[in-house]
Amino acid sequence: MTNQELLQRSLAAVWHPCTQMKQHESFPLIPISRGEGVWLYDCEGRRFLDAVSSWWVNLFGHNEPRIKAAISRQMDSLEHVMLAGFTHEPAVRLSEQLAELTGLGHAFYGSDGASATEIALKMSAHSWRNKGLPQKNRFVYLENSYHGETLGALSVTDVPIFRSAYAPLVRDNFCVMNPDWRQAREGETAQDVAERAASALAALLAEKHGEIAALILEPLVQGAAGMAMYDPLYLRRARSLCDQFGVHLIADEIAVGFGRTGTMFACEQAGIRPDLLCLSKGITGGYLPLAAVLCQDDIYRAFYHDETARGFLHSHSYTGNPLACAAALATLAIFKEDEVIARNREKALRFDAFFAGLAAHPRVKNWRRTGMIWAFDVTDATAGFAQRFFAAALAQGVLVRPIGETVYFMPPYVLNDDEAQQLAAGTLAALEQTR
Ligand SMILES: *Cc1c(COP(=O)(O)O)cnc(C)c1O
Repeated sequence: MTNQELLQRSLAAVWHPCTQMKQHESFPLIPISRGEGVWLYDCEGRRFLDAVSSWWVNLFGHNEPRIKAAISRQMDSLEHVMLAGFTHEPAVRLSEQLAELTGLGHAFYGSDGASATEIALKMSAHSWRNKGLPQKNRFVYLENSYHGETLGALSVTDVPIFRSAYAPLVRDNFCVMNPDWRQAREGETAQDVAERAASALAALLAEKHGEIAALILEPLVQGAAGMAMYDPLYLRRARSLCDQFGVHLIADEIAVGFGRTGTMFACEQAGIRPDLLCLSKGITGGYLPLAAVLCQDDIYRAFYHDETARGFLHSHSYTGNPLACAAALATLAIFKEDEVIARNREKALRFDAFFAGLAAHPRVKNWRRTGMIWAFDVTDATAGFAQRFFAAALAQGVLVRPIGETVYFMPPYVLNDDEAQQLAAGTLAALEQTR
C-alpha cells in the first residue's frame, strides 16, 4: 500500500488508541511499513528515529534477530496452550528466571500492563480477605500516577483526562502527595521532598490502614505524569511504612523495569522488595504483549487451600502465551549476553554530553535523567505544544512525543552515538520552531 492509501483506509476502518480521531483531519497519521534498529520507515522510505521505543516497549531495536529467531523456533513446536491445567517450558523457564531476578515468586501472567495492575490489586485485596480481613480492600496511589486504563487501574490512576469521563464507574481510593522533586521549595532537596511525601503517606496510613489493602506506585519515575523523577529514599520510607501498618506495597515496574532506570528493576536502587511486582512493556523486548505479576510467598500461601473459591480465579485467554514467553526469555538472554545494564551506564553518560546543548537551552527547565530516561520541561509551552512539537520533530526525522510541556527520550538501548547526536539535533531544531 502507498502512504496515502494506508492513511485513508486506516481512518475508515481503525479506531486508534488514546486519540481524538477528529484531530487527524489536521494531523495526519504516520503510516509505517517496517522497522530496523531505532528506525521506523514509512511506505515511501522516509524514516523516523523511534526515541520513545514505540510507547516504551522496545528495548533492543526493531527487527532484532535473536528475539525473532526465538519466537520463530517456539512457533515450530507450540504456539499456544491454555495455562489452566496445563504447563509448558517457556512459562516455567521464564517464571524461574523472573523469580531469580526479583526475589519474588509464582509469576502470574496477563497480556498488557493494565491487566497486571488488575491482577495485583485483586491479589492484594483477595489475600487480605482470605486472611480474615475483608475490610482491607481499598488502595493508596500517588498524585499524577498512571497504572493503566481499565476500570480497576483507573481507580489508582491520577490523570484527569483519562479518568474524568469514567468517574461514575471508578471506585474511590486514597490519593497522596507524590515525591516528584520538581515540587522542591526554596532550599529543599529531592530528599526533602521525598520526606515530605512520606509524611503525608504516614498520616494517611496511620488513620486508614484498617481499610487499606495496598499502596501502588511507579518506582523512581512516574512515566505518564511526564517523567516525574524522585529520590529512592521515598521507596525506603514507603516500604517501612507499609510494613509498619500492614499494607502491601505494589511496585508497578511496567514502564521502569528491564533496565530503564539504570538497574534491572528500579526498586533495586532503594534496596527494597515490594510485595507485588507488575511487569510488562519491555518484558518481550517490544515484540509481543505479555505481563507478569510476581509476589511474596505469604501472599501466594494465603490462596493455597482446599476451598476452590479461596484460589485466585483470574485468567485471560492468552495467559502465559508460549511465543510471548519465548520472546521474553530471548530478551533476558540479551541482557546477559550484551551486558546491557553495564553498557547502558556508560552510554547514558556519553549521551548526556550530546544532549548538553539542549539541557542548557534558555527555554529548557528541570533537565533530568534517571538511567536511560531523559526529560525536560519547556518554559513557555502554550496550548497544543505537544502536538506541534511532535509534528516539528517528525519533520526532522525524530519521533518524540511530548507529554504536555515535557519532552522526553526513552530510546531503545541500541541507540548509538551517531543516532543520539541526530536525536539531539532534531530535538533542538524542533524546539526552535515550536512554542
Ligand atoms: C503503560 C503503563 C501501564 C499500562 O500498560 P498497558 O500495556 O498500556 O495496559 C501501567 N503502568 C505503567 C507505569 C505504565 O507505564
